[in-house]
Amino acid sequence: MEENGTAAKKENISRKDFLSLTGKTVAAGAAGSIALGGLLPNELWAQSTTRAMSPPADIPPGTEDPIVLEEWKSAVDQQSGPTPTPLPPGMRIRYAVVGLGHLALEEIIPALGSCKKSKLTALVSGSPEKMKKVAAQYGIKAENCYSYQTYDQLKNNREVDVIYIVLPNSLHKEYVIRGAKAGKHILCEKPMAVSSKECEEMIEACEAAKVKLMIAYRIQYQPHNRKLRELVQQKTFGVPKFIEASNSQSSANPAHWRHKKALAGGGALPDIGLYCLNTNRFILGEEPTEVFAYSYSTPGNPLFTEVEELISWQMRFPSGVIANCSSDYNVHESRHYRVLCEKGWLNMDKAYAYKGQKLMTAKAEGKMEKQEEIGLAENDQFAAEMDHFSDCILNNKRPFTPGEEGLQDHIVMEAIYQSAREGKPVKLTHNLKSTMRGPEPKTE
Ligand code: NDP
Repeated sequence: MEENGTAAKKENISRKDFLSLTGKTVAAGAAGSIALGGLLPNELWAQSTTRAMSPPADIPPGTEDPIVLEEWKSAVDQQSGPTPTPLPPGMRIRYAVVGLGHLALEEIIPALGSCKKSKLTALVSGSPEKMKKVAAQYGIKAENCYSYQTYDQLKNNREVDVIYIVLPNSLHKEYVIRGAKAGKHILCEKPMAVSSKECEEMIEACEAAKVKLMIAYRIQYQPHNRKLRELVQQKTFGVPKFIEASNSQSSANPAHWRHKKALAGGGALPDIGLYCLNTNRFILGEEPTEVFAYSYSTPGNPLFTEVEELISWQMRFPSGVIANCSSDYNVHESRHYRVLCEKGWLNMDKAYAYKGQKLMTAKAEGKMEKQEEIGLAENDQFAAEMDHFSDCILNNKRPFTPGEEGLQDHIVMEAIYQSAREGKPVKLTHNLKSTMRGPEPKTE
């Protein structure tokens, strides 16, 4: 372990070394001793030299400014924003993806290929043959492939900055805590865990290890949903009064972990209903003070012997807004919400889908109603959320969707289940402080 650092040592640290050292320092700090001149990783980062920091030595000056090309189309016909400003590959934040299932292989790993600040360097899987194939497809070194048994050895891997947990819900807690103890920053899929108590333990473990924790709420990084939030909060259509939201789909495989309580924690609510809950909180910028819910499972249907099929609930917000939400595992796919305001409404179709969001608005104009579609360029939501987390690490910022955001959803979900069980409304007193979130994500 290093002794008290000299100024020279601090000045010679490169950005890449810093990221590796973050893990090393944290591991030492968590064990009770302080490395690198008694500085926390953030302080070390802040005190490192101009050569390393602004800009880092091997990033040519101005790389992070967009290149300005000659315009030829009118502004309204521009299909994309400013030219992208990717970091050179050697400077990007390096991700280990844990659990090679549908989401990891179909969305996250491909999205890492289109990230600007993030890249894939390691894999963790319980299926060696599958991992070998994925490693070959994405050029991952054999020594950067881990099993769940060798997972903790990531601690010694200087080519990994972030661990992204993409496992069944009840495994999130264990792998987040082990990952934090390995000194790596953690991105964790939703739902954060299977209870609010688990979320609290995960937040504490990341704080103790001095690593960042973010929950992968991709909708909060999606342009149409962000635009709707802006219009609602600016009261462009008057004061919001009522929200209708549904996220539903059909299931077919009773053996899947999503239908096992021990692995999923619940049924439609924590898996897909969570999007209605989280997006309502996001667009309103308020926390619900009361919930009232019903749930139903068709008797004899083997899909729903352990987890609920349908959950329907209302949330009351301090401003007076009431949100009416539903989620069903046994209907044709439907993902939408509508915000009813005093002078109009905003409707989002395919609201929680990976792509295809459609934002429509209606406004009263005299005796007429004006309906409009707000067209925005789509993004890759997964790439946007990963690049946001990487940006937080590079610039030592708190994530926009930190662990507390996942905890709050679990607190509300527990109240929803309680209300459905007891058949009466449940009040919520635990309200988050507005300072919980980090700064708004940068958009390119
Ligand atoms: P999958 O079942 O497709 O994949 C999960 C992977 O976890 C498996 O392939 C397996 O990978 C690993 N695993 C380890 N232990 C188990 C176990 N006991 N049972 C089953 N799998 C195990 O799930 P998804 O990819 O759909 O979901 C993973 C997580 O991502 C969940 O938390 C889910 O809520 C979340 N999710 C988020 C979405 C979003 O839009 N943000 C969308 C879909 C899911 P291996 O064989 O490599 O060990």
